[in-house]
Amino acid sequence: MALIVQKYGGTSVGDTEKIRRVVRRVIETKKQGNDMVVVLSAMAGETNKLISLAHQITEDPDPRELDVLVSTGEQITIALFAIAAKTMGNDARSFLGHQVRILTDNAYGKARITDVDTSPIRENLRQGCIVVIAGFQGIDADGNITTLGRGGSDTTAVAVAAALDADLCEIFTDVEGVFTTDPNICSDARKIDRISYDELLEMASLGAKVMEIRSVEFAKRYNVPLHVRSSFNNNPGTMVVQEEKEMEDRVVTGVTYNKSEARITLTKVPDKPGIAAKIFTPISDANIAVDMIIQNTRASDLTDLTFTVPKADFKKAMEIVQRIGKEIGCERVMGDENIAKVSLIGLGMRNHVGIAGKMFGTLAAHNINIMMISTSEIKISAVIDEKYTELAVRVLHDAFELGDTKNILETT
Ligand code: ADP
Ligand code: ASP
Ligand code: MG
Repeated sequence: MALIVQKYGGTSVGDTEKIRRVVRRVIETKKQGNDMVVVLSAMAGETNKLISLAHQITEDPDPRELDVLVSTGEQITIALFAIAAKTMGNDARSFLGHQVRILTDNAYGKARITDVDTSPIRENLRQGCIVVIAGFQGIDADGNITTLGRGGSDTTAVAVAAALDADLCEIFTDVEGVFTTDPNICSDARKIDRISYDELLEMASLGAKVMEIRSVEFAKRYNVPLHVRSSFNNNPGTMVVQEEKEMEDRVVTGVTYNKSEARITLTKVPDKPGIAAKIFTPISDANIAVDMIIQNTRASDLTDLTFTVPKADFKKAMEIVQRIGKEIGCERVMGDENIAKVSLIGLGMRNHVGIAGKMFGTLAAHNINIMMISTSEIKISAVIDEKYTELAVRVLHDAFELGDTKNILETT
């Protein structure tokens, strides 16, 4: 007998018929002798609808109240699930985040889970109940409702699985697993059977929304075995595991894209100590995360500085930089929201040379200009014009032969 945590995303619980189907699936797994904990998202589109309701009232809703509002989507699905399970003769009980004591910090809209009190879950499992938990929400030390950030139900599921020391955490979604790239923009994308936590973490951080970033961090830290799979069939999905020797044979594992960043450039900035701190300290004080940074030194004692920030913080960042730009006497401050970041990820990059050259050559062959580049041990990213995103993903996917088994490349 195993303890299994299953998470179903928004499309899998998109209407009452789909919820019934999910309930039947959970009951089937329970009948095989397993203890079942289910974490649910809100119905597809529901969270967006709730956010837009608040925005009908104000551009800048109070963060505490926004969390109270957006956390209601999950309350609907967990209740419907438990109602449906009971009509099928199974005891199921739904729980909101605060009822199973998913404790978080107080960062509304992006709260971090600090602790999960497993005793109510264990007690209900002991009574033979299916425990159904609302994803995406928690409670802070003062009793306020918090939410974990978009896609946060994945994190709830993994955190609950880690706290319970579950045998398996299954993430059910609308695709058959983690693919070499987003299967919705590249029909050639191939399902990856086994992937390391580190590769999936990079993929998630660089735009693959199949798993939320923090959920993968949690899974890695607590060694939670993850199975990402489709809720619409019984096919095996992707196992997310610790790094295995053969994984390094795959030079490139996946291609990702991210359209959610914007670029800010300051030209002719004085090239002297303290200037970077003058620019970036107020940005971080405003809680804006800077991603890529490049600085070009000119022949003179002036330099150009370019960096990226989330599009959601672009306006705020521009205001700050325009103010600082004046103070430090730079020539111009320019902003560009029409950018995208495409990235290649793979453990094999550690031992293979020539990947960056091949990536840049492929983009050049399709007339796609590269604006910024960043690399780490297992990834290469390039910022390009947003309008070429899909093209760039497809040609890179092709160039690295990810669509078929030829990917065990010998490029060196
Ligand atoms: P859920 O609602 O189940 O949480 P999401 O929409 O958050 O589902 O995540 C699944 C989606 O992630 C897929 O429909 C797919 O478009 C997208 N996706 C992006 N990159 C990948 C990838 N590399 N592998 C699989 N899916 C991906
Ligand atoms: N309902 C939330 C969202 O749409 C959380 C989730 O689905 O994981 O972001
Ligand atoms: Mg998701």
